Amino acid sequence: MRVALIAHDEKKDDLIKFIKEKEEVFKELDLVATGTTGKLINEETDLNVTRMASGPLGGDQQIGAKISRGELDAILFLRDPLTAQPHEPDVSALLRVCDVHNIPLATNLATANMILSFLQRESL
Ligand code: PGA
Repeated sequence: MRVALIAHDEKKDDLIKFIKEKEEVFKELDLVATGTTGKLINEETDLNVTRMASGPLGGDQQIGAKISRGELDAILFLRDPLTAQPHEPDVSALLRVCDVHNIPLATNLATANMILSFLQRESL
């Protein structure tokens, strides 16, 4: 299964903690991430994720392009709902393209957990 990981700055610690808790499951996945999120994951876990550009520099759009090409099965995108993002149009476009292509998209940890449980079951 091919999964993209994205976390806004205020949510990066939450994502790293979540990945560490579920590292056995994440190890089985083919992972891509936006630039800074991916750098942190590569530094702080034993996972090896493919990095796109940083989100504000077009990374969200690169992930959106992968979705439109049928190259991703799920997106875990921990958004910060309390901080304005300079690249909000890119964020909205990414959410939209997930809906266009019917791709599971988690924007908070509760949903990320559910998607991961499903992926874990699927890979058994
Ligand atoms: P980043 O991008 O991983 O490069 O911080 C995430 C985002 O803001 O979309």
